[in-house]
Amino acid sequence: MSTADDPEDVRPVTMRTQVVVVGLGPAGRATASRLVAAGVDVVAVDPSPDRRWTPTYAAWEDELPGWLPDEVVATRTAHARAWAGGEHRLDRTYVVLDTGGLQQALDLSGAEVLRGSVVDAGAHQVTLDDGGSVEADLVLDARGTRMSPGRAAQTAYGLVVPAARAAAAGGPWFMDWRSDHGAGPAAAPSFLYAVPLDADRTLLEETCLVGRPALGLDELRRRLEHRLAARGVELRGDEVVERVRFSVEAGPGSRPGRRPPADRPVALGARAGVMHPATGYSVAVSLRLAEEVASAVAAGRDVWDVLWPAPARRVQRLREMGLTTLLRLPPTGAEQFFAAFFALPAARQRAYLSDRDDPVGTLAAMARMAGTLPPGLTAVAVGSALPRWAHRREREGA
Ligand SMILES: Cc1cc2nc3c(=O)[nH]c(=O)nc-3n(C[C@H](O)[C@H](O)[C@H](O)COP(=O)(O)OP(=O)(O)OC[C@H]3O[C@@H](n4cnc5c(N)ncnc54)[C@H](O)[C@@H]3O)c2cc1C
Repeated sequence: MSTADDPEDVRPVTMRTQVVVVGLGPAGRATASRLVAAGVDVVAVDPSPDRRWTPTYAAWEDELPGWLPDEVVATRTAHARAWAGGEHRLDRTYVVLDTGGLQQALDLSGAEVLRGSVVDAGAHQVTLDDGGSVEADLVLDARGTRMSPGRAAQTAYGLVVPAARAAAAGGPWFMDWRSDHGAGPAAAPSFLYAVPLDADRTLLEETCLVGRPALGLDELRRRLEHRLAARGVELRGDEVVERVRFSVEAGPGSRPGRRPPADRPVALGARAGVMHPATGYSVAVSLRLAEEVASAVAAGRDVWDVLWPAPARRVQRLREMGLTTLLRLPPTGAEQFFAAFFALPAARQRAYLSDRDDPVGTLAAMARMAGTLPPGLTAVAVGSALPRWAHRREREGA
């Protein structure tokens, strides 16, 4: 273990602090930063604490916490649009974040930052790969998720294209499910995501929303190139590429909404399963929860109760059913499914996508959709509400 300021000092040491935050992605860094702001002593550990974040992070504007400076928003798209069986105008503002600005805004100057990998994390102690350790009143585990064959994942292949050339794609699109990607109607579905990064650049990304396994990046690249050629978007071969691959299911050893055993740390962010399993979004909710976690620690309240109040646990179960539905949709069903989703009233869409403490709203959105889907898809949606053992028996052919 070495301090980030002094990479030469590699002697194993034991430290003591109030809170250890393991992992400095958006969830860990936001929480460490808000804890410091709340006057809490924090040690944060990451193998590369200074690594510059590069993913394009986006969110709905109304999801972002008030303490986040306005400058971290790179672009705003009022009334974002989607295409599924026709064009839908969404009654919400979608924002693309300035990733570097976000990272900087989550100030860690008041925390002790250690460069190292945690090899063992308990409720009150972490051990690093060099043998050093940190003892703490509370350990928060924000090590993210891990890809594995059995886990549902999201994949995407994107190109950053000058805005003038990207305009022919017709965006901005939150989701464009048209099938001009050339893969044919029987292929696993993917959609075009098209968002402005700034006044001059647009990200055009072919996205596999979720799959077990998800589509490979080569397949998504072929689809994107085919789709863009069909729409008359000229590519020159020198475009910056964004590759997206992440599990939408919680990290190893973490069961969303289940209290960890007394000797285990409390998980945050994607590792905890706060990522919406049916959309892959987690950054905004992690930013919001960071403040709530920091206030709870400062006030001596139980952090897990703040992360997983009973309504959030119920919403989690409903979202897991939503994930099952998406994974079981036939290839041609995805566009019909999202046509029904985007036809929901804005408040229902919002409840399903964003309100992690509104089980009534989430259930109402799901029930209303199940009622408007074509009968074959309604059966898939209703079947997804069956308990897990029934899905296992079905997979095993029982
Ligand atoms: C290209 C891309 C685009 C995305 N776009 C969006 C988006 O628009 N909106 C959205 O909400 N989500 C998006 N996502 C999903 C995104 O991954 C997550 O939402 C987000 O990064 C999860 O944050 P996190 O902090 O929970 O975990 P991570 O970002 O995975 O961070 C985990 C951290 O833990 C550290 N770590 C790992 N192991 C150890 C260890 N043993 N010891 C110490 N530290 C360790 C890692 O170095 C890392 O810094 C995108 C993902 C990708 C890849």
